[in-house]
This record gives sequence, structure tokens and C-alpha cells, in this order.
Amino acid sequence: MRREVRQIGQLMSRYDVIVVGGGHAGCEAAATAARSGARTALVTFSRDNLGTLSCNPAIGGLGKGHLVREIDALDGVMGRVADAAGIQFRVLNRRKGPAVRGPRAQADRALYRRAMASELSERTPNLELVFGEVIDLKVQDGQVGGVVLADGQELVAGAVVLTTGTFLRGLIHIGEERRPAGRMGENPSVRLAERLLASGFALGRLKTGTPARLHRDSINWSALDVQEGDDPPEPFSSLTTRITNRQVPCHITRTVAATHDIIRANIDRAPVYSGQIDGRGPRYCPSIEDKVVRFGDREGHQIFLEPEGLDDPTIYPNGISTSLPKDVQDTMLRTVPGLERVQILQYAYAIEYDFIDPRALYPSLESKQMPRLFLAGQINGTTGYEEAAAQGLVAGLNASRLAGGQEAVSFSRANSYIGVMIDDLVTRGVSEPYRMFTSRAEFRLALRADNAAERLTSWGDRLGLIGTERRNQFVSRENEYQSARRLIDALQTTPSAATKAGLHLNQDGQKRSAFDLLSYPDIGFEDICRVWPELSGIGFKVQERLATDAKYAVYLDRQREDFERLQKDEGIDLSVFDASGYGGIPGLSNELRSKLESIRPRSIAQARQIEGMTPAALVVLTAHLRRHRDGVSA
Ligand code: FAD
Repeated sequence: MRREVRQIGQLMSRYDVIVVGGGHAGCEAAATAARSGARTALVTFSRDNLGTLSCNPAIGGLGKGHLVREIDALDGVMGRVADAAGIQFRVLNRRKGPAVRGPRAQADRALYRRAMASELSERTPNLELVFGEVIDLKVQDGQVGGVVLADGQELVAGAVVLTTGTFLRGLIHIGEERRPAGRMGENPSVRLAERLLASGFALGRLKTGTPARLHRDSINWSALDVQEGDDPPEPFSSLTTRITNRQVPCHITRTVAATHDIIRANIDRAPVYSGQIDGRGPRYCPSIEDKVVRFGDREGHQIFLEPEGLDDPTIYPNGISTSLPKDVQDTMLRTVPGLERVQILQYAYAIEYDFIDPRALYPSLESKQMPRLFLAGQINGTTGYEEAAAQGLVAGLNASRLAGGQEAVSFSRANSYIGVMIDDLVTRGVSEPYRMFTSRAEFRLALRADNAAERLTSWGDRLGLIGTERRNQFVSRENEYQSARRLIDALQTTPSAATKAGLHLNQDGQKRSAFDLLSYPDIGFEDICRVWPELSGIGFKVQERLATDAKYAVYLDRQREDFERLQKDEGIDLSVFDASGYGGIPGLSNELRSKLESIRPRSIAQARQIEGMTPAALVVLTAHLRRHRDGVSA
């Protein structure tokens, strides 16, 4: 076991929080716990695997970019690290409304790992990195109090966060070939999985896949379409002032009829179709064989050729993950335009792994059956770096609070995508790898990537998560925004005066404020500056925010009622039923009663999300609570 001690003084083996696993969930969990004041240990196999991008070399995208911005708004590390490693930045859906725009960056894998390692080891006080394999949990009186490492050493803590990703009994498939692994080139975590199974956790099996890696110099680039990034690149983190890496393009090609013929001719050799894989894969991120089987009528499927790094000849062909045998991969890839002579550096593979039914967790991500144990990331049935990191933040925060004797906090569907995801997981569970989409959020007009700081930073500050630099930046930006907002609310014009400035309004004689004018779809900030030239002194970022707020104001007003109801429902605490159970409540069906018993919702809002929950059953629950509160027995 090797350690890197971040604090001057003795090596510790007693911590407030121990985080197991240095992937995306683990790094964020450890950084969050440490930032909130907990003495934290991050135990992972080696320094080299801190923040490894196991699959695509990219961070963010639709829904996922929102999560990164929320993590950043809470002073988490993912956004800053992605900015340090980014080699192509693009805001997806730029032509659509701000609510569905998704910031994304192509990342240099090596730079990402290096930036994460330096973030954790040089910029995170209270954090110790420990290198080794965790094989068991220390449990006393049913509560988790530490971990046991493969070399026999024991570490003790007030709370433990498990973030072992695809490593729990991971099994790699390449055609008929099978081998146990956590991911390519790394051992699986078998003993820990057995421990969890023996402790009564319901484990399920999922699968995911990754494409082959190709050599840059074996590709005929001249035959391909080029995709450039945004200029200037837009960083994830509000603390990043400038992207300094050289920016590089991606290229686009597509499969052709001959590719599909080869896949069809060999489909019975694909583990998913031969019955060799039981685990369910992500429907929205299908392998190329799935695409050919499910969308057989398509002439071709796009492949984005993405560089894995500035000084790395490896190319990641996004869109063509497969578990077909190596000989099929060889011939299939060479049918693709530009890849006629391609050299494969690593063959594509699928991986099957255990996950834990997340309905076994509270919204704090603490286990219901093993107090003081928190789970985050792919172990909970999600897929994706951003989903993992966001859960890591929640688990790290709550583990730190529990260790420090503070109450758990939960995120709301009304304030964040993080809240949407956690609520979906712990209430509904997963039947396939869960990834974030903007369509999962009912309040998505309010939960934009551009307003994450306004939604979360002050709250994060009250929770002790925000550092001085971000706090100062946030306060100064808020002050700037509020004074600009007061100004554009106060400036008023009549329709006739506006017409003189070239703005065509209904001539109804009604005065409108500058903010009202901005809410019109065809009126931009530069238009209102023609009426009030003094507004041109407002900074560009504030102008953008004012314009977005104005455009969305009417929709947000309409959503307010639902929003307020959700917040009220979230305030109705159901934890009183943890001890008494739901057996004594007349009027609930047996099916709902057993779902309530197993999910143990924290609030009426969470109970509302349970599959099969009816308005009548919610009335029964609230009436029972009222009687309980008033001291009347049911
Ligand atoms: P990981 O990033 O897997 O990190 C787990 C960490 O735990 C590792 O550092 C490991 O070393 C450590 N660890 C495990 N067991 C132990 C132990 N016993 N003791 C100490 N340390 C331990 N996501 C997508 O969004 N799209 C995709 O297309 C996609 N395809 C994928 C394909 C493959 C083959 C793989 C492996 C993953 C893919 N992913 C994909 C998923 C993405 O990589 C994960 O969702 C993400 O990395 C999960 O983060 P995590 O922190 O939960 O786990």
C-alpha cells in the first residue's frame, strides 16, 4: 500500500470519510468531503487511474453538460479539470433555446488524468491518497466503520463512500473471448462484490461497450468531413478565465452498406446476440450491431473520429462500439470511408458488471441497510462520467456531514439536474444504464446550464462547499446583474417611442419596460440599446443573462405553481414511517404498501414519483401524517 499524505504530520489511518475508487464519482466525492472539512482518504488502485476516462475522451454534452456546470457551481473539480484538459469545446444545440444547450469538451486523456491528480494532491487540503485494493468493509453493529485492504491493513472512518464503477465482478467480452476485468488492462473487484452480495444488497447485471482505438497515421483524413470546435472555446468552469490548450478538429465518416453486410453475416458471434451476455446495455447508446439490427433500413451511421490527446496518435471512433470478434472488427472497420487501411491499437469490447439497485439508498446516497455506507457512480446503475461525478458530490457531502454529526441534505428536482437524477435513481431504480437527458427534468426551463451558479452557489456556500475565490466572484457577478436588472426594469417606453427606434410593438398605448421588450422573441439586447444607449455599458455576460431571463420569464411564471407545489411536497417529511412502517395505514393497496416499505421515501414529493402511486394514496398518506402530527392515532 502506498500513501501520499497531503497534510504535514503523521500518517493517518483514522478518517472522517473514506472514499473507495478514484474514478469520476470517487474523485468528486473525495474532493467534496475534504472541501467541506472532513479528514478524507481516497483509496484507489494507483495514482495513474485517478480520473481515467474509460470510454470516450469527452466531458459534457446534452444533459451531462448541465451536471458539470452544477458541480462547478458547488466548487467541484470536474469542470476545472475538463477545462485544463480540453482540446475542443463546443456548445451543442447552440441554435436551440438556452435550456437545452449542452456544453461539451473533447479531452486529452493524459492531461485529464494529470489535472485531476494535481487537483486532488496539490489543491485539496484534508485529503490523503492511498493506493491499494479495498477487499472488505469493516462493519460493527450493522454500521460501516472502515475498510480492509488487500495487504491486510485497516482504515477506520465515520463514513465510507464506495465508487467502484464497472469493477464489481467485471467481465470483458470480445466475440467468443471472455476475461474478468474492471476495464481493459485492469483487474476486477471480486471480493468486494462478494461482500456486498453476502450483506444482502440486491445486485443486478448491466453491460456497456467501447469502440476500437485507431492509429491516427493509418486514416485517410482527406476523404473526411471536418468538425471544428467553437471559437472562442467556452469553458465549463466560471473560474477558468481562458482555455490554453491548442484546439484540434474532429472528423466525421459513416458506415456503409458493406459494413452492415459484414455485421449481419456475423451477428451470431456478437455476445449480446449469442446469449453470452445477460446484462442490459444502454438503449440510447447502442453498439453498432444493435444499430444495424434495430435500424436496418438506415444507409449509414455517423462515426466521429475524435483525437484522444494532443501528443497521442490514438483516435476514438465515436458511434461504433461493438463486442464482435477481432477478425470481424478488422474487416468491418476497413469498409468505412477513410479507414480502408486502418491500424487498430486496441480492439472494441463490451463489459458486464454488477450494480446495486439504487432503491436501496436514501436521497443522501446512504445505504438503508448498512448505515454509514454511501454509494455513488456506475455502481448505482448509471453510465457516464458526469452522472458519476454528480453522485460523488452528493455522497461525499453527506458522508462528511454524517461523520461530523450533521443532518443529511438532499437536492431537489426543482433546483438541479443532480436532484432529478438522484430522485429518479432512488425512487424508480434502473432497468438499463441510466444517463442524463434534458427531457428527464420537468423544470428544465429553470434548470439551465447557464444559470447553475444562481441556482446552487449560495446554497453550496451555506453548506460549507464554496471557496473564497468562487464566493467573491459570485457575489460580484450577482451585484452586477442585480443593478443591471433594476435598471432595465425601471426604464420604460411607449409603443410609439419604441417604433421610432425601429421596434415594432402593438400600438396599444401601454408602457413596457426594457426587460419586457427583451422578452419578445425578435428583440435582442442590441435593439433595446437603440432605445436606451446607456444600456450598452452593461457587460456582455450580464446582457446574455438578462436576455435569457426575459425570454423565459413568461414560461417560468407558468411553471411557478407546479414548482411551489413540489417544494411544499418536499417539505412534508415521511421519515416518521421508517420506524412505524406503512402497515397501520388503512386505504393503501398491498402493492403500494410494499413499495413504500422498500423505497422509504423521504417526502411526499418522492412518494409521488413511485411507480403506481395514485393521488388517492397520497391523500391517505397526508391525512395520516396530519393525524400523527396532531397526536391522534390512526
Ligand atoms: P470508474 O470511472 O469506473 O472508477 C472506478 C474506480 O474504482 C477506478 O479508479 C478503480 O480503480 C477503482 N476501484 C474499483 N474497485 C476498487 C477496489 N476494490 N479498491 C480500490 N479501488 C477500486 N459512459 C458513457 O457515458 N458512455 C459510454 O459510451 C460509456 N462506455 C463505457 C465503456 C466501457 C468499456 C467502460 C468501462 C465504461 C463506459 N462508460 C461509458 C462509463 C464510464 O466510464 C463510467 O460511467 C464512469 O467512468 C463511471 O465512473 P465511476 O467513478 O462510477 O467509475
